[in-house]
Amino acid sequence: MEPGWVWLCGAGPGDPGLLTLHGLNALRQADVIVYDALVGEGILDWARADAEKIYAGKRGGKPSAKQADISLRLVDLAKQGKRVLRLKGGDPFVFGRGGEEAQTLIQHNIPVRIVPGISAGIGGLAYAGIPVTHRDVNQAVTFVTGHDQKGETPTTLDWDAISKASGVIVIYMGMAHAPQIRDALMAAGRPAGEPVAIVSQATLATQKVLETTLGEMLDDIAQTEMGPPAIICVGRAVLMRQVLDWQALMRGEAPRNLDPLGRGRPDEVTT
Ligand code: SAH
Repeated sequence: MEPGWVWLCGAGPGDPGLLTLHGLNALRQADVIVYDALVGEGILDWARADAEKIYAGKRGGKPSAKQADISLRLVDLAKQGKRVLRLKGGDPFVFGRGGEEAQTLIQHNIPVRIVPGISAGIGGLAYAGIPVTHRDVNQAVTFVTGHDQKGETPTTLDWDAISKASGVIVIYMGMAHAPQIRDALMAAGRPAGEPVAIVSQATLATQKVLETTLGEMLDDIAQTEMGPPAIICVGRAVLMRQVLDWQALMRGEAPRNLDPLGRGRPDEVTT
């Protein structure tokens, strides 16, 4: 890292092992680290002992630090000649306002490097044993935010079109509006029996996974006390967890169903 630069870096969904090597490199060098609420705790342990750590968290649509303030703070730190690491949960350009921050920096002539991260809607689901695409299920996946800028269910989304075009729908920030999202998908023709998974605290030791259906999800969410941060995944790819729940396999449990999508016999081993 050079003095006066800002690295805008994704920290991944939580498990420190999912940070990139560029991210680790930046953590070890940065003078200042400006980090978000969803940055996994263990990750900051890799920072230099004398690095300044600034929390710029926002949770649940309630901004505790205004976006413009954060961006200008980064400009200010870079102008002081600091090596600045802006660390964001997941990928900085996926529902993370990284684009806005980088634009402000560039508008102020601050040199920027972007380091992608593993997004919760892909890597978090993988930790639950759910592949976001599968040949037998979907040729498209749609990533949706459950919040618009005002913190409401996005009314600008064409749920009918998404529902028709996309076998698998991955919803970020959806827990606060789970009822509206479910209603919109069912009104668009997705059946009550459609598989749904909700993965909270994905990739962390506290990860919880709820397997349910569109029809039953609201009751099940209430009963299991699932809360944010969570990813909601809608579609038959969720069934693959019955065979791919690798964390259960690591605990010594047997796969629940070796062929949840009914593909037929396993591929033969030919030697
Ligand atoms: N840039 C991030 C997303 C930020 S939006 C990324 O690429 O992952 C915040 C939303 O991300 C949360 O509301 C939740 O839906 C999701 N999220 C982030 N980390 C998560 C985690 N460890 N487990 C489950 N969901 C997570």
